Amino acid sequence: MSEESAVVQVAVPRPLRRLFDYAAPRPAPPVGARVRVPFASARTVGVVAGHKSGSRHSLKAVLNVLDTEPFLPPDLVELAGWLAAYYHHPIGEVVSTMLPAKARRGAPARQVQATMWRPCDAAPADLARAPRQREVHERLRALGGALDSELRAVGLARRALVALEAKRLVRRVAVAAEPAVVNASPHEPSAEQAAAVAAIAATLNGRAVHLLDGVTGSGKTEVYLRVIAEVLRAGRQALVLVPEIALTPQTVARFSERFGAVATLHSAATDAQRFDAWLKCRDGTHRVLIGTRSAALAPFAALGVIVVDEEHDGSFKQTEGLPYSARDVAVKRGQMLSIPVVLGSATPSLASLENARAKRYRRLRLTARVGGATLPAFHVVDIRAARLDRGLSPALQDAIAKHLAAGNQVLVFINRRGYAPVLLCSRCAWRARCARCDVHLTFHTSPRQLRCHHCGAWRAPPQRCPSCVDGELALVGSGTQRVEEALRERHPDTPIYRVDSDTTRSVRRLAAELDAVHAGAPAILVGTQMLAKGHHLPGVTLVAVMDADSGFLAADFRAPERAAQLIVQVAGRAGRAQRPGEVLIQSFDPDNANLRALIRFGYHGFIATERAARAAAGMPPFAALALVRARSKSAPAAQAMLAQAADILAQDEAVETLGPAPAPVARRADLHRWQLLALGRRPRLHRALARLADTDPQVPAVSWAIDVDPIDAL
Ligand code: ADP
Ligand code: ZN
Ligand code: ZN
Repeated sequence: MSEESAVVQVAVPRPLRRLFDYAAPRPAPPVGARVRVPFASARTVGVVAGHKSGSRHSLKAVLNVLDTEPFLPPDLVELAGWLAAYYHHPIGEVVSTMLPAKARRGAPARQVQATMWRPCDAAPADLARAPRQREVHERLRALGGALDSELRAVGLARRALVALEAKRLVRRVAVAAEPAVVNASPHEPSAEQAAAVAAIAATLNGRAVHLLDGVTGSGKTEVYLRVIAEVLRAGRQALVLVPEIALTPQTVARFSERFGAVATLHSAATDAQRFDAWLKCRDGTHRVLIGTRSAALAPFAALGVIVVDEEHDGSFKQTEGLPYSARDVAVKRGQMLSIPVVLGSATPSLASLENARAKRYRRLRLTARVGGATLPAFHVVDIRAARLDRGLSPALQDAIAKHLAAGNQVLVFINRRGYAPVLLCSRCAWRARCARCDVHLTFHTSPRQLRCHHCGAWRAPPQRCPSCVDGELALVGSGTQRVEEALRERHPDTPIYRVDSDTTRSVRRLAAELDAVHAGAPAILVGTQMLAKGHHLPGVTLVAVMDADSGFLAADFRAPERAAQLIVQVAGRAGRAQRPGEVLIQSFDPDNANLRALIRFGYHGFIATERAARAAAGMPPFAALALVRARSKSAPAAQAMLAQAADILAQDEAVETLGPAPAPVARRADLHRWQLLALGRRPRLHRALARLADTDPQVPAVSWAIDVDPIDAL
């Protein structure tokens, strides 16, 4: 190694839990810079994570330095170190998860410029014969200008903009940093909203986590908007994390009406869009970023607040690769940057409520709905002795007819898509199962198919039983399609909209349908949890929950919490305007303690019961939990690997292990899945997991991973 070279420690994208030293030319590339390095017999792009004064080994040299400035900001390099330690995940893979795909391949960081559309002062021409252009023009005039990226995010037609440009009604302007637009709120805040805003605004220069616990329709978003306005006025940026299915054009529109420009980051974005948004956040061009889970790892020049909306939502947890929780990462980043974090929900997770109880989070409450709308009344329909038509009880059907006759809308919630979950031979009990997964195939109509909801496989349904050859086949249970069919027969003149992941591939179509629903005429919505979030459905006065039991009775320890959250969230769609709402919950198990607590005392009554149960069982949040998962073509090999893992973890008697046991879906896409549960107090558990990661036991043909704070444990 020559005197002139420096030693850099590089995070390389390989599943190895350490950094690698390389010789680099002086001046050494800074922490956060990308370097191309030789690794094994290949070359790869890594990120400098540290420097060393010297090394005893003769080192391989960096092939080329891609950035002379930090590409990944120092606070993200620090966050990567924390993620690697907390999730026991290889540092190089953490860093590569943070980088957009183009950056991982070494694409140069170019100077970014945003395009802004502004209305011209010219007198408005006659746009009567171009309604789309008129709409876009009016919108732009109301906003005073908007970013190209933002207009695209809300689906404003580019063709209309270009046509308006030709008519000299709008013009394009290139902007380096977006101007901080803060339009006035149309609402006078309620006393509770004002108090929440003041409490959060008082912590803008410090670390504080606020749990905004506000019933559905209480105006949480207005609180976020007002806090973000303060942050923007101080010249800083804001990050808003939302659940996967809540990032709709409506959500973006609410923010862009107030702030003119908002950027988005979500799973459907292309590599180029992602890279662009990432750089513009990093360089301070974008002021407000709304994104799903991965946006928690986005870089910012001057972040001033992080909002996590619907903080209880499971989609914030990644289960593949780096198993991070975006909510927990948000809290950690807030601490690292000394900025406030706002966790909002009508149904806060038990974990966050427990943090509030321990005074780690500050709880702010919004107890009343905006405009005096009342919360709906809950009723359980005992269906043990009821004659069900495709899952609908007579009591439920009467209620639906009554609400429609009164000119109102009805929402029917069933968390299962397809027509029927089981196809069964009534003679020999044969069932249609996936050849590659240990699950039943779901029967779908239009097109008529048996589909696997786990691996995506599908096939045509058999006419006769393939096992006993002449048995009749029967469809058991109901999904959204079957319920829709039953409702169509009974209400042929009422529009029925089905919303599930089979129908909503097109966000635009969903938006158009919801617009129709907003017009207010009687209608029925049938849908899965996609309907439970974010949408305002002021005409809905009846919410029907077809099946409360599957959630409350599921094996996973968190299942009751999730079931209660879903019911409360879907119920929150009802009675938003001046019409009071009603919620009917069908159950075969009406005496279930969880369900009764929820009905009688509401979500917080339920949580009190659930908290006691978790404390008694020593489950999270009263202990820390991790899963070790193993996958293999051979079940015994997966099991054997986990038996070794259990031995390593059990070296600390304070760590309890359960398993190895087959995962809930024991085989998926031809891979056997086994798991080992480890439970203990957090520091001890993490030390044991670190020991496991260091030992790195290997069994041929088995891949394994650690999942810290898993959301599905059983
Ligand atoms: P949440 O997120 O708590 O469910 P939202 O923030 O979506 O509630 O608010 C519900 C509705 O009430 C929205 O249409 C919002 O514009 C409106 N709203 C919020 N705050 C006020 C207020 N102070 N005065 C009048 N309307 C408000
Ligand atoms: Zn048969
Ligand atoms: Zn399958």
